[in-house]
Amino acid sequence: MQPLDRSATELVAAVRSGDLTAVACTEAFVDRIEAVNGRVNAFLAVDRQRALDQAAAIDARRSAGQPLGALAGLPVAVKDALCTTDFPTTCASRMLAGYRPPYDADVVARLRRADAVIVGKTNMDEFAMGGSNENSAFGDVHNPWDLARTPGGSSGGSAACVAADMAPVAIGSDTGGSIRQPAGLCGITGFKPTYGRISRRGLVAFASSLDQIGPMARSAADCALVMETIAGHDPGDATSLGEPVPSYTHELTGSLAGLRIGRVAEHYGPGLDPEVAQGVEEAFAAFRAAGATIHDVELPHAKYGIPTYYLIAPCEASSNLARYDGAHYGVRAEPGRGVRAEPGRGVRAEPGRGRHAEAGDGDAGQFESPLVEMYCRSRAEGFGPEVKRRIMLGTYALSAGYYEAFYAKALRVRRLIQRDFLEAFAKVDVIAGPVSPTAAFLLGEKTGDPLAMYLVDMYTVGTNLAGIGGISFPCGFTAGGLPIGFQLQGPALSESLLLRAAHQYQQLTDWHLRRPALAT
Ligand code: GLN
Repeated sequence: MQPLDRSATELVAAVRSGDLTAVACTEAFVDRIEAVNGRVNAFLAVDRQRALDQAAAIDARRSAGQPLGALAGLPVAVKDALCTTDFPTTCASRMLAGYRPPYDADVVARLRRADAVIVGKTNMDEFAMGGSNENSAFGDVHNPWDLARTPGGSSGGSAACVAADMAPVAIGSDTGGSIRQPAGLCGITGFKPTYGRISRRGLVAFASSLDQIGPMARSAADCALVMETIAGHDPGDATSLGEPVPSYTHELTGSLAGLRIGRVAEHYGPGLDPEVAQGVEEAFAAFRAAGATIHDVELPHAKYGIPTYYLIAPCEASSNLARYDGAHYGVRAEPGRGVRAEPGRGVRAEPGRGRHAEAGDGDAGQFESPLVEMYCRSRAEGFGPEVKRRIMLGTYALSAGYYEAFYAKALRVRRLIQRDFLEAFAKVDVIAGPVSPTAAFLLGEKTGDPLAMYLVDMYTVGTNLAGIGGISFPCGFTAGGLPIGFQLQGPALSESLLLRAAHQYQQLTDWHLRRPALAT
């Protein structure tokens, strides 16, 4: 059996039955990582030996007749925004270079308890801020379908590693689209569950009222399998939902007949690439042919999604990132000292020499005290430009005199966006449309224009603002051979419905089975 060609569901069944050892399965994927990651840069850390040791322990337990977890022997890649005790957790930031968390994220602990094998940590936009993976302090990720293009972001490494067969499953996080958009641009399936369905404990916080973890895999069925392990209540996360977790894999069956799908006319305005629009229309036609009905719905405030998100997310980020001051968390710049590597704590930045050092850093006279100087230099050198932009936007919008005009107003518009979805879901079961306005764009194409980069999120941010679920999966390819993504959004706690609708589509089509020709 060639593990790289198998679904996660098949791999787990094969390990359980003894047709495949966990070691052989893990070895196939780490070999693949070693063969192609140099060109894709999807991983920030891989630990071959540790993964093989974990796999060998699973095989030994199986031989001894001991019970195995639900994901026994399944290689999983984890976004570097989730805390792991056995890998550094950097959020692709110089600020956290070399940082080793003292505990595992709840999701990581659940994966381990289920006997999944964590093969490595994936590259991302710094602190999950970005839509192209070009904001990583550790280099761009390349789209396996065309290495000159972006895989999307911020979970670009997770999407690219699944697309390039380096892992059957990856974990991502989605604050404004960071699971669904890279999944769409890389031709895989990405699922952002309802806010609170999966614990955020141990996910490095970006915007706490929007952040949600989710699975990324080749198919909706594989996402359902992983959901059964990672979803559920966590008393350690105050926003975690207490509702029982259904058996998502058992709820995949059932036809699409009678499914009421909403179509939003405003989605088809300026900015939407015609090839993407056509791919999306073909997906609607496939759903209709399978017995679903399509209905026009309105989301009158969707057009305010981008300005609303780009106020609320930076406001929350400016607060969450205040902890990186060089004392409590993060690299510390020490005036007058050179770089000092401190075991387990990361690199100490050299004042005035850091990758992101600002002009004027050499002038010690501008600081009111050595402590303030340390804070300022540590933050100037530790954070990259996009993270600084978000902190400044958020700090400005929260400051006295502007709070009402910007932050409070954005919260009110968020309510209207939520209400639009509630009203639409009174008429339809799910809402469908494009994930992104274009297929994967060229690396460098939008880096000089932050607003153009923000507009890439126009179809995804509403899901997070409303706290609902969304799934994206491939529905075709452009003439140039790039995947086109389709998105379904459903009401709160409609996980089973979204996974089932996507799975049933994937039973009728084979877009999700296409692989990029990334030669080894
Ligand atoms: N692209 C969006 C941003 O830059 C979304 C990021 C995310 O979901 N983490 O904020």
